Amino acid sequence: MNATMRLASLFSTTLREMPAGVSHEGLRLLVRAGYARLLENGGRAYLPLGQRALAKLARVLEEALHALNAQPVAIAEPRAIALLGRSVLRSYRQLPVLAYALQLGAPKAQLHLWSFTRDAEQDEAQRAAIRRALSAALEQCGFEVHSAAHGLVCLGEKEEALLACDRCGYLDFVEHARFAAAEHETTAAQPLERVHTPACKTIETLACFLGISTAATAKALFFVAERERGDQLIFAVVRGDMMLSEAKLREAIGAYRLRPATEAEIRAIGAEPGYASPIGLVRDGRWMLVVDEVVARAPNLVAGANVAEYHLRNTNYGRDYTADCVADIAMPPLESACAQCNAPLRPVQGVALMREHRQGYEGTYLDPQGSERVPLLRHFAIDLEALLWALAAIHRDEFGLRLPSTVAPFHTHLVALGKDEAVVSTAEQLYALLARHGVEVLYDDRAESPGVKFNDADLMGVPLRLTVSTRALQAGSVEMRRRGSSKENATLVPLDAVLEHVRAALR
Ligand SMILES: [Zn+2]
Repeated sequence: MNATMRLASLFSTTLREMPAGVSHEGLRLLVRAGYARLLENGGRAYLPLGQRALAKLARVLEEALHALNAQPVAIAEPRAIALLGRSVLRSYRQLPVLAYALQLGAPKAQLHLWSFTRDAEQDEAQRAAIRRALSAALEQCGFEVHSAAHGLVCLGEKEEALLACDRCGYLDFVEHARFAAAEHETTAAQPLERVHTPACKTIETLACFLGISTAATAKALFFVAERERGDQLIFAVVRGDMMLSEAKLREAIGAYRLRPATEAEIRAIGAEPGYASPIGLVRDGRWMLVVDEVVARAPNLVAGANVAEYHLRNTNYGRDYTADCVADIAMPPLESACAQCNAPLRPVQGVALMREHRQGYEGTYLDPQGSERVPLLRHFAIDLEALLWALAAIHRDEFGLRLPSTVAPFHTHLVALGKDEAVVSTAEQLYALLARHGVEVLYDDRAESPGVKFNDADLMGVPLRLTVSTRALQAGSVEMRRRGSSKENATLVPLDAVLEHVRAALR
């Protein structure tokens, strides 16, 4: 990265007004301050100021990763990490290992980190070390970091829905949050009974037709999961009154992505769309049945008969069917209670600073006894763009950005006021001096009025501003001021001590 830049030739301009049609407050300010642009085709681009801020964010995070001995890799898509692992990892001596991929350009700015470990104990230790290191780095970047079960978050900004427990401190993204499910009455299992249910393709019409609550039904959902070695049909069952969490399902089966299955794909396993249940299907090992733990405990649910317009009463998990996987795959219902302590969960909002989850992995390594074992793989993802937008929304005032110096594109904004020859030559000399000593300077050498220059400096939000004016020069000085501080807090710095003062102010 060049340490210095001249504003007259900067490939960017600020905007007088807030851009219309941008809903994110932080992005709106970044666009106005000349960090980013929204393109006519719906895309967005980062201009030099924004690209530098993204690169600085990435550098702080990368340094934290280097301290953990994480090593860079370049792969085209996240699924490739498993293939890479299988072709490289052979022995327990290679574990634990951390690999990361940093992408700063289009289409996204993101950081992915993967931890391969020998066993649950090593996984937990590695995970704790990663979270500690990333928390510290994110705090350096200007975030107040909170720990959630599936990542790190900054509370307050309205980006992600989370659930928090005030009693035990549990916090997680709503789609991952564990909750205490109400216990079912212990009712004896009744015999299966086939009922004619014409035009009852949805849970609501079915419950209405039979005069029962949706909680007395089981809902069938079909996905195709992208897994390490190819795609697989997933049959998921949740209770009729609950929503499926794709995030929980993905993690439960170690899939990379899920898409809804087509009717043809559903029929291919013998199930009838709209009237499906696992009962009576041939389990050939090619598809997978995942049942929510609430369904596995609920007695006598109504479920599909795998025949159009027919359902079964009194289906019971264990007696009538068993699953490949029983897990919590349901979204928390409104007003859920904490799974850890049963206190009410409170909805909160925040920004996802880092998301993490366990990932499926089918490769093996040889343990010290020479037996094959499967390493654990954990994925950590950081969306650098979302981080920059959030920082812009948090670190700002009525005049513009106030990014922390760790992330600000430059440290010093040098402003030359007027065309006076002494002013221009002094500014040029200071620019050269600061550049020579590695201070990152943005030099406003444009032929603009003081008002325009100061407004732009406030918008861009470089932490320290040096102003060269005729009046200050008469006192043998330049004016130094921190972004966000009042006029009265500006100091006059003797010309021959500018470098020392700038360094001290930036320390
Ligand atoms: Zn709790």
